[in-house]
Amino acid sequence: MMPDFDAYLAPYAARMSTSRGRTVNETASATRSEYQRDRDRIIHSTAFRRLEYKTQVFVNHEGDLFRTRLTHSIEVAQIARSLARNLMLNEDLVEAISLAHDLGHTPFGHAGQDALNACMKDYGGFEHNLQSLRVVDTLEQRYGAFDGLNLTFETREGILKHCSLSNAQRLGELGRRFIEKKQPSLEAQLANLADEIAYNNHDIDDGLRSGLLTEQQMDEVSLFARYRAEVERLFPGIGGRRAINETVRRMINALVEDLIKTSLANIHDAGVSSVDEVRDAPPLIGFSEAMKSQAQELKRFLRTNLYQHYLVNRMTSKARRIVTDLFDIFIDGPQLLPSDYQLSGQDTPEQARKVADYIAGMTDRYAMREYRRLFAVDEI
Ligand code: MG
Repeated sequence: MMPDFDAYLAPYAARMSTSRGRTVNETASATRSEYQRDRDRIIHSTAFRRLEYKTQVFVNHEGDLFRTRLTHSIEVAQIARSLARNLMLNEDLVEAISLAHDLGHTPFGHAGQDALNACMKDYGGFEHNLQSLRVVDTLEQRYGAFDGLNLTFETREGILKHCSLSNAQRLGELGRRFIEKKQPSLEAQLANLADEIAYNNHDIDDGLRSGLLTEQQMDEVSLFARYRAEVERLFPGIGGRRAINETVRRMINALVEDLIKTSLANIHDAGVSSVDEVRDAPPLIGFSEAMKSQAQELKRFLRTNLYQHYLVNRMTSKARRIVTDLFDIFIDGPQLLPSDYQLSGQDTPEQARKVADYIAGMTDRYAMREYRRLFAVDEI
């Protein structure tokens, strides 16, 4: 007998009994809930393993201790599960969404995505969020009965965080909420904010570790300054990695506690008692106004001081060149592509999409190797 996986959930949580199911019907698993099954399919996918060698902020080879897309996704899942349990939301679903949310990322982080989007502008553009959905819906080729992973509607809904109206029109039921301006499940809303909590905090940690940020500079950020002072009070004279970790863990905790408290109050005020009512309500998972403005201050700080640091800009510029040159050489000569990416025509939107799929699937180091193979005269 399988346990009742929905038993601990609040009425407003996503549950198996109200799931909109999978695109292709499948027999239920004898041992796992449908959302556990989604999570397991994601973990076993090729795209998930590639996350290990994809940049979050720092390129993978720059140091062994920086976050990669893989460790980032695991941290998002950890924060999301902890939040979900407190809000009596579906932990398995938030875990599945969190682990899949970055599957469509190109090599070299946002620089790679922006470059590929520019290359694809005459062919419908490129958006990593939509690409994550494309990975789980079609690009993974593992199962006999269908392309992709055939995930549940709720996991797919959570992966598709944002979407243009023209893309929404092409996505059928999944795109409808963008047209009707409705919300996704609370689990989807929560995974989105867990992502923010994770990257804002680990980017501070990585920024300080790399030396691109200094602790003195970080004192401009009120959330950091407050907890750094508390740590100094509790552990006088403490410095280095321990001080940073003690500070960052307090920041994460403050954000998590604020989000739980605010979201519970929002849910209570809205009086929602089913996932369908959640979809019709305004966004209910969120931070208090005070915390929101502190989080924005932190984001602004990171944008100016870390993401636009000249050493990061150098990487960004190189990444742009690699992605753009790869795209151009493949679009001019599709015969250079591995055969399963070649279509008969040339310079068609379909061929361009294949090129984008190929490039987006690359890890940082694979993209660099491919670049050398195609452009370096002394490589064969
Ligand atoms: Mg992310």
